[in-house]
This record gives sequence, structure tokens and C-alpha cells, in this order.
Amino acid sequence: MTLTDAEVQELIDLRRHFHRRPELGFQERATAETIAARLREYGYAVQTGVGGTGVVGLLNGDKDGPTVLLRADIDALPIEEENDVEYRSIHPGIMHACGHDGHIAIALGVAKRLTKVRSTLPGRVKFAFQPAEELLSGAMKMVEDGVLERPPVDAAFGLHLWNNLDVGMIGVVAGPMMASVDRFQIVIQGRGGHGAMPHQTVDAIVVASHVVAALQTVVSRNTDPLDAVVVTVGTIQGGHAFNVIAEQTTLTGTVRTFDATTYETIPNMIERVVAGVCHSLGAQYTMRYDRLCQPTVNDPEMTRLVRQAASEIVGSENVVQTQEARTMGGEDMSVFLQRVPGCYFFVGSRNRARGFHHPHHSPRFDFDEAALPIGVEILERITMNYLMRAAS
Ligand SMILES: [Zn+2]
Ligand SMILES: [Zn+2]
Repeated sequence: MTLTDAEVQELIDLRRHFHRRPELGFQERATAETIAARLREYGYAVQTGVGGTGVVGLLNGDKDGPTVLLRADIDALPIEEENDVEYRSIHPGIMHACGHDGHIAIALGVAKRLTKVRSTLPGRVKFAFQPAEELLSGAMKMVEDGVLERPPVDAAFGLHLWNNLDVGMIGVVAGPMMASVDRFQIVIQGRGGHGAMPHQTVDAIVVASHVVAALQTVVSRNTDPLDAVVVTVGTIQGGHAFNVIAEQTTLTGTVRTFDATTYETIPNMIERVVAGVCHSLGAQYTMRYDRLCQPTVNDPEMTRLVRQAASEIVGSENVVQTQEARTMGGEDMSVFLQRVPGCYFFVGSRNRARGFHHPHHSPRFDFDEAALPIGVEILERITMNYLMRAAS
């Protein structure tokens, strides 16, 4: 059922309310309070403080059936907003620059509409308003606090407003659709000395330069070219004077993968390169490798369900199933999708004509609010179709 004008206006007002008051990961107190108050008003059983600052709302249908989890992330970013709009952030240095303000509004919109069909609802709908997605740790915290239990969750769905797709388009693919996120730190230990007497030293800057160059072969020469992988060195630090050979350099970077085998083998590939280069040039090293999140993988059956619902709302010609619906960015929705079947998808929110084309995490990021009712309709349709199908 299409949204009324009043419902659309309420969505926009809600989105702007949260946009004005952004809060960083695990500090979303006012955000959580507003969400919890709304859910209570709608008649939900509400649990706060789940996984830190997360909120869970449960709607029990009057008929029995499975439990579906709908996830919305609620955190903002440490960015100073540059948009000159009346709903501009009032918190200096903090901004909803990823669209999570819209995710909250959409989820609350769905939560409200579902209460109207409660009497015919065969099952339960659990809303997970998740903190700290940008820190890639809120989902795990909620799982540790039991969000997938009491009652156990059978399927999970979520969406991201997406400025890489025009408003009116939906992007959904089966299998891996967002990458893993790993972080590494390599400390190269040389032997410092006089800038004019290199033979008495092991130059940690020269070694680091070779390591950076050699790391480019990890992807280009060691992984299948048909498999998407990224190895990025993001920082390099070392040395403190122009005429002194550096004793130590530190590199940090990130690795992104889709494929499960690559995910397992890549830390060793990287270390082999680092060890070989350092050994050949007489330097020592230490390496630290952290797994921040795994690839986000959509279940084929649940993806079909989302595709079906999306086609019903925007027409199948507007449902994108190509590379445009994948990204090497990471998402901790992966934590839920590793544990229960489900699907994560993109809701187009770009509108070049109206100036909504800046990328996510840009200080100029903003999206076309026409995407909000589309998100509500699709998420509601997915939920109903899933529960009805299980009931029949
Ligand atoms: Zn983001
Ligand atoms: Zn995001």
C-alpha cells in the first residue's frame, strides 16, 4: 500500500530530526531515546541498551509464525557538515554523512505501518536499531547481547540508502555484495644513522618503499583476476630529520575481499611479501593483522524474495542486479547474515538534477528524500511476503 502524503511528511520530519542531532558510534543516547519512545508509542515491546546504545522493538503478530529481524544502523560520522540546509547538523564536527538518519526514519516508518496489520500478522517482527556501524562493532555487540535470541530470529533484512544509484532504483545481488574489512600495521625496524653514511645503517624508509611497491603484487600476481580484492597502504610514517637515516617506519593499511578462500589466505600472502623484502634488505619487522568484519553475503532464497518485493514496488526494470549493486566497502550487517539467512540491499538515493550526488562520507553528502517512502514500502513488503510465505 502506497504511503499517504501525511506518512511521507512524517518520514521526512523524522529523518531531519535525526539529521540535525547526529551522534557518534556508542554515543547515540538521544537518538536511542527518541527511537525507543516512538516504538513504545506504536505498542512495541522495547528493550534499550542492547549492545551499548542499541534499541530492540518487538511486534508480536496475533497469529503464530517465524521471527524476522529488520536492522537499521543509527550512528553518524566525525565530519563537519558543509551543506547549507535548514536541517543541517547542530552538533559541531558530527554529521549523518552516510544516510543512517534515513535508515532510522525508514525503519520507524515500517514499524508504525506494521501495527495496522498486527491482527493478521503470522509471526513476529523484531527491529534492531544498531549502534556503531561505522566502527564495524555494533552488530557484534548486539549479537553478544542476544538480539538473535528470545525469540530466535529466522531471517534478517536491511537496506542502505545509496548515492551510487539513482532514486527509484534498487540494487540487490545474491552472494557476497560488500567486502570484508581487515586492518594491518607493519613496523619496519632498521638501523638509523648519518644521512651521509648509509653503509653504516639499514634505511627503514628505503625498506618501507620496497614493501609498499611489493605489496602491489599481492593482488596483481597472487589472486585470481576474476576475484575482487583490494590491498591499500593508507599511512606511512618514519624519520624525523632530512639528514638522518630513519631507524623505524610504520605502515598501516586495509584489505578488502569477497571470496572466502582469499579471505583466509591473504594475511599470509601479505606477511610473506613483507618478510621477504625485509629479510633481503636486512631489516626486521613486526606485523599486526586485525579482522574488522567479514564479507556481507546474501542468501539466494532471501535475495529472490527481496528482488520480488522490489519489483512489485519500483518495477523489475529498476531492480539492478549487476556490479552496481556491489561494493568493496564493508558493513557489519555481515554479522547478522553469517548467523541467519537474509539479504542486504541498496535503495537508490541519488538525484543529480537536485544536487544529491555527493558520495557517502563526504561533508556535502545528502540524499533525495523520495527514497524514504520507497524504502518503507519495500521493507514492509519483504516482511509481509516472508511471513505470509512461511504461514502458507
Ligand atoms: Zn558509512
Ligand atoms: Zn552506512
